[in-house]
Amino acid sequence: MSNTNKEIPSSKLKIIPLGGLEQIGMNITAFEYGDSIIVVDCGLAFPQDDMLGIDLVIPDVTYIKDNYEKLKGFVITHGHEDHIGSIAYVLSQVPAPVYATRLTMGLIEHKLEEYDKDHAALGTRLMDTVRRKTVTFGQSINLGDFRIEFIRTNHSIVDAAALAIYSPVGCVVHTGDFKVDYTPVYGDAIDLQRFAEIGKKGVLALLCDSTNAERPGFTPSEKTLAPIFDDIFEENKNTRIFVATFASNVDRVRQIINTAYKFGRRVAVEGRSMVNIIDTAQRLECIDIPENTLATLDEMKDIPADRQVIITTGSQGESMAALSRMADGTHRKITIGAGDTVIFSSHPIPGNEKPVTRIINSLLQKGVNVVFQDVHVS
Ligand SMILES: [Zn+2]
Repeated sequence: MSNTNKEIPSSKLKIIPLGGLEQIGMNITAFEYGDSIIVVDCGLAFPQDDMLGIDLVIPDVTYIKDNYEKLKGFVITHGHEDHIGSIAYVLSQVPAPVYATRLTMGLIEHKLEEYDKDHAALGTRLMDTVRRKTVTFGQSINLGDFRIEFIRTNHSIVDAAALAIYSPVGCVVHTGDFKVDYTPVYGDAIDLQRFAEIGKKGVLALLCDSTNAERPGFTPSEKTLAPIFDDIFEENKNTRIFVATFASNVDRVRQIINTAYKFGRRVAVEGRSMVNIIDTAQRLECIDIPENTLATLDEMKDIPADRQVIITTGSQGESMAALSRMADGTHRKITIGAGDTVIFSSHPIPGNEKPVTRIINSLLQKGVNVVFQDVHVS
């Protein structure tokens, strides 16, 4: 009541979550000020047990459609499915420019190309119509009433960014997914100094989200995994080794390749999503792999079992993923059984415990040695 003379701003900053809150996956948030809307991330969610026959869950973008004339662009924090997975579907409904860092943009472009292939009959291609700009850390872009600064963070995928979103009424910081890792496997550490500088100037709101946020304590650096992998490889010297992890965890794949190289093993990558991400990361020089280390599954036929490592998708028990098909005995090229070791380098995401257990059980029944401990940092 004391401040009745205070001027009421003619326009307000609105933060509109279109998905991702109180759920895992499908991160997408609109920011609106005056005649400008920007959208941060454009993810998908994987279907729940009760969504029979559904492959993917994509966000409802009616609000953006209804206010399309205000839409200035999409800014993307990093290349995980729950942040870019629905971008092609959404862009086909509400086309707008896309801004992201190097690897993130590489993975987005792959999605647009796939979409164009599947929708060739439309005659227009997203790759031709959607304007894309690769942004570097520290760079700012102007979109309508907003200015957006990309700040380096660490995450299980390289080139992850936090965003400082400046509006006429103040700054909002959107962290994206991040961890503070002083010894990342690739690239530089998170730019904490920039966060401090922005913090000193004052921030209206900090938007921050994390799986396992309810668990107290610290998460070790990704680098701490190297000696653990070394030990497991040493203990299982005489077996063929499989490592199941997230397709998108480029740094983890790099670690596994390091250890394999040290032990004189060749590495094959299996699973469509993993092959795609590793190809893109290699092309954009976001991963360096020693020469003559990678092999195809066909080349593996001529290599002794104890000289092989196969990195595979399916660590979350996804029924269509490579590991699941190996466990079921329906994989076209790989038969798995006694004499093989499978390392799970991931914890089940909450909700995936049941399918992961199912896979472990079928592997154990086949006589596979399953290692499921201490080979993941969150
Ligand atoms: Zn992520």
